[in-house]
Formats: sequence, C-alpha cells, structure tokens
Amino acid sequence: MLLLKSRYLLKDASTVIDNGAVLIDNGKVKFAGSANDISNRESCQIIDLGNSAIVPGFVNTHTHLDLTHLHNIIKYNGDFTDWIRQLVDAKKEWTESEYLSSIRSGIKSSLESGTTTVVDITRNGLALEELQKSKIRKSLFYELIDFNPDSTESTIDNFKNMIRKVKRDDLLSIGIFPHAPYTVSEELYRRSKAVAEESGFSIATHISETIDEAHFLTRGTGKFISLLRDFDMLKEWKPPGLKPVNYLKNIGFLENGCILVHCNYLKGEEVDHIEESNSTIVFCPRSHKYFRHKDHPSYKLGNRDINVALGTDSLASNDSLSILDEMKYIYTQHKTSKPQDILCMGTIAGATALRLNDKIGKLEEGYDADIAVVDIKKETVTNIYDGIFSHDSECVLTVVSGTICYDKHGVTREASVN
Ligand SMILES: [Zn+2]
Repeated sequence: MLLLKSRYLLKDASTVIDNGAVLIDNGKVKFAGSANDISNRESCQIIDLGNSAIVPGFVNTHTHLDLTHLHNIIKYNGDFTDWIRQLVDAKKEWTESEYLSSIRSGIKSSLESGTTTVVDITRNGLALEELQKSKIRKSLFYELIDFNPDSTESTIDNFKNMIRKVKRDDLLSIGIFPHAPYTVSEELYRRSKAVAEESGFSIATHISETIDEAHFLTRGTGKFISLLRDFDMLKEWKPPGLKPVNYLKNIGFLENGCILVHCNYLKGEEVDHIEESNSTIVFCPRSHKYFRHKDHPSYKLGNRDINVALGTDSLASNDSLSILDEMKYIYTQHKTSKPQDILCMGTIAGATALRLNDKIGKLEEGYDADIAVVDIKKETVTNIYDGIFSHDSECVLTVVSGTICYDKHGVTREASVN
C-alpha cells in the first residue's frame, strides 16, 4: 500500500482538505481525507509531498498525439483550410516510425503534466500500440473520413477490421470519430452512430469549429468547397441548409449523447439540442486562441446543464499537451470563471464524457487511483486554486490506476505500489 500525504488534497474539484492523505491499495483509492484520520500506517509506504496539492488526475478529452512533432511547423494565416492543407502536406512523407515517435513524445508529455486519461484520435491506428505500451489510461477514437456516401460500408468495414485486432485491457476504451461535417457524409455519420450504439463505443466529432463550416452546411459556400474539390472529395452534394449542431441533431447523431469537439459557434436552439441530448462540449482553450476565435460559448452557458470538458487538441495548434496549462489559461484569461468549475472541466467532466465518472475523476474510496500531484511554489496562497493555477505550479507526480507513471523528483523510487 502507498500513502501519499500533502499540504492540500482535493477529493474533487471543490472539496479541499488541508493536510490530506490518499491511501492507494491494489490500484484503487482506499482512503482519501485528512491525514489525521488515517490509522494503521505500519504496512504503508508513506510519501510526504510537502507543499503540494493531490488532485484527481487530469483528463485530456481531445488530442491528436500523432501530430506532436508538428509543433511550430504549421503557420496559421487566418485561413483554416490553408492550415489543413499545410497539415496534410507536412505529414505526407512521414514514415511509420516518425508517427510512432511523435505519439511517444505526446504520451510522455501528457503524463509529465498530470494527464492520467487521454482521449486520442487516430487515423491509421498506429497510436494503439504505443498507447498500450504506456500505463496511461486511454480512450482511442478511430477517425473516419469519407465524404462519398457510396463507400460508407467499406469505410465502416475497415473500421471494424481495425477494431477486431484490438486486444482489450482495463485502461483502454474505444471510440468512433467521424472527423467533421465537411469530410464525412451524412450516411457515414448515421452508420457510425449505429455502430457506436450497437457496440457500446463512445462517439465524437469535430463540430462548429469555424464560421466557414456553418456557411458550408447552410449555403454550400466557402473555402471548404474548394478544399474538397482539390482533394477530389466533392461529387454530387447538396448542403443540408442547417447550422452544424442542428444538422447533427437532424440525422440522429446527438441521440443518447455524444462528444462534440469545439462548438466554437453556437446559436439558440443548438445549445438546447446539446443540453437535451446530454452531450458533452469539448473546449480546447489555447487552440481556440491560436485560431483567433471569439469568446467560447461555454463561457456564456449560465445555468445550462451542459457538461463541458477540456482538450488540448494537437501541438499543431498548441504549445503543450497539458490540461493543467489549459486550466491556468482559463483562470488567468477569464476571471469570471469559478476555479472549481475550471478544475471540474479538467477532471470529472472528461470522465463523464467517457462515461467513466463512477471510476475516475474524483478521489473517493473505491475509485481508481488516478492522481496528479501539483507542486505549489508559493509558501502561502490566499486560496488553493491560486496555488494550483499559478504560472509556476507544476505536476510532480502522476499515478494511473495505482501505478507511478511520472515522478519528477524520484520520491517514490523506493515505494512498492500495488
Ligand atoms: Zn481535433
């Protein structure tokens, strides 16, 4: 058994305990509370983490680990379709080993920043092997791209063939990721949804990312038209005449909930549909800034009952794969956001999106021991959130299902876990 002690413990986003302790037994939280309330310490390896906060491990609800090596390679010039063209060009010549090394870098920096669960999007399936070698918890979403309705069944068959080879383990879950409404036909969206429902897979898509995407769907105009023509993807197609989320609602994609990545532009009834379907919005704050979008709609949801989780997106549009950095960014840029809500977005909201909220996202007895420890540099803070979200705080320990995955200062070296 391993006992972690620290000056602060956050059992969840809003329950703060001074001088806290978490006892880990067989990969699970056996106790989380005040260090004074724990007895029978003889058989434990005790690690005192000093002036730090033990928090639930962070959940990165949207990233593309295979693009990690594209950091600072692509320049955004205000035209999203040009950015996509650069992205496609940049990895055209990549070998399999380049993909694998990019994915490995992404996993390493995720763990080093306290991310215990990563929701990764894979196009070619290569991420599976690297992710399964790692002790990080992963939800691997297979990206589907096909705008031609005639080839829907073969695209679905390819997906099923890839999935058939997957060896399941306790840290892995599978999802389907039809890419976006300008690369996925209506038919493929419907079939993806049906497969997700019958297999119990999670389902997600990029939606309402740009204003141009809304023009593409409502009027059939804008830069996506020429992009698709250039990639020879646009044959006989008529715009549905609907705003992005309304389009998804109309084809049944929202039913029973789904994960909607971005949602940078939402109007009226689109928000209603997301709320009514219990879908999750994934907000990628610093990628949102990189693409120069206006204030994200999640800041204006008020009393809406909508789960908002955080993603980093890839390093092709961000500077780190750290959910802690995303939370710090919101904390400093959006002063009206409550710190408890921000921490919620980086932890339990992602778990809820993946339907794992009875297992991870909190530190309570019986939950899996997915833990991040954030070193608070300042000796005195007015409140713990100031400490966690201060610019110089950093993750020093990452534990997934009781396994030490990152230990900056080697404090657990002698510990025997599990
Ligand atoms: Zn993405």
